[in-house]
Amino acid sequence: MVQISKDACKGCGICIALCPVKILEFSGELNNKGFRFPRITNEEKCTKCENCMIYCPDFAIVVSKNAK
Ligand code: SF4
Ligand code: SF4
Repeated sequence: MVQISKDACKGCGICIALCPVKILEFSGELNNKGFRFPRITNEEKCTKCENCMIYCPDFAIVVSKNAK
């Protein structure tokens, strides 16, 4: 399971760029700081590589390996 804390996000896009299966994209909404934040498009394809969690500079993403 990939959990995105939208209000912690600063919209840098690093997670989107580094997802190897390209299932992250900017949502059309803004968070409470006025930044666009990512959403996951097809979680079934997630390999749980943790790139998004590891490289997010604001710790806005948590990847759980056990839960789906
Ligand atoms: S854990 Fe990996 S595959 Fe899944 S959304 Fe994050 S970067 Fe993409
Ligand atoms: S890497 Fe983190 S701060 Fe940057 S867009 Fe993704 S969730 Fe937001």
